Amino acid sequence: MNIKDVAIIGGGASGASAAFHLANSNKDVILLEKNEESIPKSCGGGMAASVQDLFPFNLNQTIEQVIKTVEFSWCLSDHVVAELPGSSPFWIVNRTKLDSFIIENAINKGAEILKPFNVSSIKKQYDNWIISSESGQRVIAKAIIIADGSQSPWPRHFGIGPKHLHYASTTSVKLEGRGLLKEGTSRFEFGLVHHGFAWAFPLKNNVNIGVGTFIGKSKDNTERILEQLLPNLGFKASEGIRKKSSLRVWNGHSNLHNDGILVVGDAASLCDPFLAEGLRPALMSGKEAAKCLNLLLEGKANNLNSYTNTMKLKWGDSMAWGRRISQVFYRFPKIGYQLGIKRPTAPERIAQILSGEMSYADIAQRVIKRLILKK
Ligand SMILES: Cc1cc2nc3c(=O)[nH]c(=O)nc-3n(C[C@H](O)[C@H](O)[C@H](O)COP(=O)(O)OP(=O)(O)OC[C@H]3O[C@@H](n4cnc5c(N)ncnc54)[C@H](O)[C@@H]3O)c2cc1C
Repeated sequence: MNIKDVAIIGGGASGASAAFHLANSNKDVILLEKNEESIPKSCGGGMAASVQDLFPFNLNQTIEQVIKTVEFSWCLSDHVVAELPGSSPFWIVNRTKLDSFIIENAINKGAEILKPFNVSSIKKQYDNWIISSESGQRVIAKAIIIADGSQSPWPRHFGIGPKHLHYASTTSVKLEGRGLLKEGTSRFEFGLVHHGFAWAFPLKNNVNIGVGTFIGKSKDNTERILEQLLPNLGFKASEGIRKKSSLRVWNGHSNLHNDGILVVGDAASLCDPFLAEGLRPALMSGKEAAKCLNLLLEGKANNLNSYTNTMKLKWGDSMAWGRRISQVFYRFPKIGYQLGIKRPTAPERIAQILSGEMSYADIAQRVIKRLILKK
């Protein structure tokens, strides 16, 4: 049997990104995806435009809206409107298109995709990995990337990723039309959701609405929240199909690799624990994983340590602050809204966070400085 350089388990954003970057460096890579057809994911599609820098091809065709205005509300009133400066763009992408488009580019560079391939067993035999599917197919590879999302059993199985997993509880609804949501405007509602927030992201002819709880146990009152939020956005209270998901979020620094194995995206618990931003770290980790594997496969590195280290520097250090901010903000959201969102400089900062220009660590440092200087 042909031994692949790398097998990637899961063809979402993180797996697709890894596949592209490996194939782009002439590696023999295979992507294993359990679903034959693309199934729409519970994802708002909000993404910093800076993600474009991760790819040498243009992502334009996946963008449905460029967000220029962000509206915040507390219990549907006390609105704050932030105009995003043109220098910090934020996009709403069609999530299904994004994943397929990156995979298409990976295939153009020589990646192979096998679907449906529902991975049911992964074993290491001598120097190779043997990956088997539910239906008995087998793939052999020198290295593997785990990219199968929030429900992945593999990080725990192989002793990588955080010891204690933390999940945000989410409900998403996709609605026809745009209701009262204006072109290029996103909405964030705090106050209605216990320990979390609700969002409304416009697409071309739809709106993606989500409700997320980030700390503690979610109170099962999502339906009551949607009954108030949907009419406020110009939709009928009962409109749309509700889809619940558990989203694995960042929960402490951890080793994201072992011998010949790396974990990326949601499977690696990289999603932002404050704002549920998961696309940027998924795409970034896919690229970084590919970079480190390239070095290993070319004999220029002896191990994959640099992957864990780079993700810590580029993402984890900011998420450590994001987690602290999340724990304080969602425990005392009214104070957080008054002191954080309603500050005169908040619109600019929010734009910078959403665009990836500023990290939570930068925000925390500014707050600490302000407290010390008492300004
Ligand atoms: C309601 C909701 C809204 C969100 N909104 C946003 C947003 O607006 N912006 C943002 O940045 N992030 C958002 N996120 C987070 C974002 O969707 C995730 O972080 C992102 O999807 C992670 O990509 P991934 O490739 O790691 O995982 P996934 O996209 O989950 O992909 C995993 C892939 O692995 C496949 N797979 C699973 N098991 C197997 C198996 N056994 N064998 C083979 N294949 C398998 C799956 O079919 C899937 O294709 C949202 C999440 C939720 C739940």
